Amino acid sequence: MWSSLTSQSVHLNSVKPLKGLDEYRANCVAATRAALNAGAVVRAACPIDAGPLEAAGSVDGLAYVRCPRCRSLYLRDVAPPDAWARAVAEVSRSRHAMNGFHARLTAERAASVYQPKLSWIENTLRLQGRRDSNVLEVAVEPSDFTSLLTASAAVAAVSSAAEAVVSGGGASVDAAVLLEALDRSDDPPRLLNAVHSRLVPGGLIFVTALVATGFDVVSLGFRNRYLYPPDRANCFSLAGLEQLLQGAGFDLLEVSTPGVLDVQIVNSHVEEDPATPLSAFERQLVSSSAAAQSAFQGFLQEHHLSSFARLVGRKRA
Ligand SMILES: [Zn+2]
Repeated sequence: MWSSLTSQSVHLNSVKPLKGLDEYRANCVAATRAALNAGAVVRAACPIDAGPLEAAGSVDGLAYVRCPRCRSLYLRDVAPPDAWARAVAEVSRSRHAMNGFHARLTAERAASVYQPKLSWIENTLRLQGRRDSNVLEVAVEPSDFTSLLTASAAVAAVSSAAEAVVSGGGASVDAAVLLEALDRSDDPPRLLNAVHSRLVPGGLIFVTALVATGFDVVSLGFRNRYLYPPDRANCFSLAGLEQLLQGAGFDLLEVSTPGVLDVQIVNSHVEEDPATPLSAFERQLVSSSAAAQSAFQGFLQEHHLSSFARLVGRKRA
């Protein structure tokens, strides 16, 4: 296994500013509530280790539970699969429509969010000696990432499928890309099994996720404005995510947390609300020099303590 560090020159305001999140976040919560009105499916056990779940907190009145074994967080109630898929698709369209009004943000996101992800996938395919891969992108349409993947010299063809329809047959693929797709899945093991069945033996799975063991998620808890359903119906611990992939039949080639935003996210919450409860140490950190904060972010990356996780798995033959 290898891990890697990422340059820290990305600024939160240029990729996912806290200001301006409110409208999209409200849409997400409303879409989740509407889907739950179709009938709630209570998640009684951890999808990773089947452990019992305990109350953890709530997001705008929607309850979250935590697995005390693996420390993953889950939205307690999800909707039946069809209603859930519709809610996820609806918020994806609303995000896209909103981003359309912010062309500058879209360009900066392409450069600082999607380009590094593409480089990661291309470099991994190259290091693994894979050429001309057929890639399955598990994403809700419209995806900003599809065109980048399609244009990549490492990729022969791209097919896209929403989480709910991955298993619906289709040709085998050499690699699958799940950018935060497990975070919004109503049934992560089912999704991984479906992806597994589409991959050729030895096929690669690329996963990114927000993890509950990362600095800003731990520090801010349920005050973290980036934690909301349906996009974050699951917030696994890093160890839980590893276990989830291994349990689905993948050997892990990479587990890393190359996040660059943890400290900035805590900072921006404090700027918005100076009364944000933090430990004395966290408060000291957010008022320390830019150099100190940057060094701390590097430490988080290096020691698997950032909230942005990246994993590569290989389907066991
Ligand atoms: Zn668990």
